[in-house]
Amino acid sequence: MPQEAFFRKSIKYIKGVGEARAKLLTKLGIVTVDDAINYFPRDYEDRTVLKRISEIVDGEECGVAASIISDIAESRPRRNLSLIKALATDGTSFLSITWFNQSYLKKSLEKNVEYIFFGKVKRSGMRFEMVNPVIEKLEDQGKITGRILPVYRLTKGLTHNNLRRIIENCLKLTSNRYVETLPNSIREEHKLCEISFSYEEIHFPQSFQHAEEARKRLVFEELLLLQLGLLKSKGSNTDQRGIKFETVDIKPLLSMLPFTPTSAQQRVFEEIRTDMESNRRMNRLVQGDVGSGKTIVAVTAIYFAAKNRYQSAFMVPTEILAEQHFNSVSPLLSELGISVRLLTGSTKKKEKDEIKELSQKGKLDVLIGTHAILEDDTNFSRLGLVVTDEQHRFGVRQRAKLSAKGENPDLLVMTATPIPRTLSLVLYGDLDVSVIDELPPNRKPIDTYAVHEGYRARVYNFIRKIVAEGRQAYIVCPLVEDSEEIEAESAEGLAERIRDNELAGLRVGLIHGKMKAAEKEKIMRSYVKGELNVLVSTTVIEVGVNVPNATLMVIENAERFGLSQLHQLRGRVGRGKHKSYCILINQSKSEISKQRMDIMTSTNDGFVISEKDLELRGPGDVFGVRQHGIPEMKIANLYMDLDILTDVQKTVKQIMDRDLLETDEYKPLKEKVEQLMAERFKEVSLN
Ligand code: ADP
Ligand code: MG
Repeated sequence: MPQEAFFRKSIKYIKGVGEARAKLLTKLGIVTVDDAINYFPRDYEDRTVLKRISEIVDGEECGVAASIISDIAESRPRRNLSLIKALATDGTSFLSITWFNQSYLKKSLEKNVEYIFFGKVKRSGMRFEMVNPVIEKLEDQGKITGRILPVYRLTKGLTHNNLRRIIENCLKLTSNRYVETLPNSIREEHKLCEISFSYEEIHFPQSFQHAEEARKRLVFEELLLLQLGLLKSKGSNTDQRGIKFETVDIKPLLSMLPFTPTSAQQRVFEEIRTDMESNRRMNRLVQGDVGSGKTIVAVTAIYFAAKNRYQSAFMVPTEILAEQHFNSVSPLLSELGISVRLLTGSTKKKEKDEIKELSQKGKLDVLIGTHAILEDDTNFSRLGLVVTDEQHRFGVRQRAKLSAKGENPDLLVMTATPIPRTLSLVLYGDLDVSVIDELPPNRKPIDTYAVHEGYRARVYNFIRKIVAEGRQAYIVCPLVEDSEEIEAESAEGLAERIRDNELAGLRVGLIHGKMKAAEKEKIMRSYVKGELNVLVSTTVIEVGVNVPNATLMVIENAERFGLSQLHQLRGRVGRGKHKSYCILINQSKSEISKQRMDIMTSTNDGFVISEKDLELRGPGDVFGVRQHGIPEMKIANLYMDLDILTDVQKTVKQIMDRDLLETDEYKPLKEKVEQLMAERFKEVSLN
């Protein structure tokens, strides 16, 4: 059997698995042996700590080496409940031990034999007690006590004992069969341990230091593969030369605006101007909170390009958003002699053909649209600027595909979701970042309230009240991780219930991710027109839809959302002249949920919120990664592993500059990148 076949072997043939467990493992994403060894611990349990009984501190978890000195007593206080009790000593003091429902121990436990007992100790009367400790004979020590054991994310029906044994068996099978993916030169330079050591020690480390070394290597490797994969998928177009635009006076444009740009908008525009006037290609990300006025910044760049007789493409994720941008931007630009057209999935064939012809012939300055812009037969004669809005909805390849319609056009990416630096490095590499950190004056903050289930009746009354005043409301349904199906059902259920009961008489619409795009657009449109009073929705409305008349946002199960996401949702209201509100229904009583709700009710600043979000979520959570269109990380933490990422980026640069992937030394790495691209970048691909 070729070496790699061992890795692709189905998990069900591994000792300790079988059909039933294989099904459970699938839920954890473990289908093959390779999946199993790449299923990394989320934590460790340190069973190496041994204590004398006399030194035990109440409440700690530790091991004790002691002999049983009492008889082993079993009692059955109730049906289905058996208790085994014993008293042990290590010469310094005594320890009571109780096992629940483990009758089988009665036969195997021996008096006057030394055991290791590992568990949590609690004071009980005069003595310390351990309940259900892990137990192992002192002479056999090292299998389940006296070592560091991995803690995994489990699924119902699968215990830690099961999973540890399965992974241990997989490791036995793969040991000595690893192909080292990292060339020696890289490992030496960055002090990375070798692959077999890494897999052994990440699961069953001899010491925490070993675990750390193993983790470092695996993180490095994962990030390296990701970076190389992303580069490849962007096309190896590393040519950074760009168009050198002539300077343009933007006063004519500014004088037409009904407002003066904020100083943040002006600063960001000056950064863009510098990029556009240089002969380097602009690669700029503009971050700005909801409502900070990103659109006009983009329009200024478009104006700049148009005055240089270059075309611009402005791509947004939904039809409604495209229409809204078109409606607000086109009157302004037309008056300045710049032609703008709208191209979406529902543009009629005849008009589509006309637009495409104009664009190809260069008789059109600006094309605003959805993915339709990406179609193969949409061409430009002089594409100079590509703008994408709400970037995280687009995959890396889509951006690349649009750029490819011109010759190194400048690139402007706009997002309302502040992303941590690590993530932007992974996503955009050398992308420059501008921040609009100021809201236009006179913005009224949105009053936010966090309430418990008990307030529901009052929430519905409040909805009736604002509807009676002519306003509209959103109700966002619980987020159901990984199941659009269930999410849609729960939204349907809620809409039906309130239509018939609490909000009977109001016009309640429903929109969810399982609907066809056309249907979603239709419902959204009637909400925009004010034909619906209330819109029940899953998170599909998150993207920048503008309904100025909507003044109330109600979010169900707010505790399930990330703070940044809550902030995005809240940003759907407060867009008109009316006072707006956000009500978070929090079903959780946990302290952390309370803290999170407190943040939401105390600030309207998206950057503060995203920082707090990060802090409270802690490591291990990779919010937004999927959203940003990159595969989920198995071990790297895009928030915490900035140092390793910086090393990885240096390495990537060396590899690309010197074309190292084509050398023999790098062959295993290259193959791994290709394999990964085929498997894990599926979701990045164009649909
Ligand atoms: P976002 O950053 O969320 O995309 P928009 O560009 O949609 O924000 O701007 C939100 C609203 O604020 C729009 O109605 C826009 O005309 C208005 N706006 C933008 N800049 C300013 C400003 N400097 N002063 C006042 N209003 C502004
Ligand atoms: Mg916007």
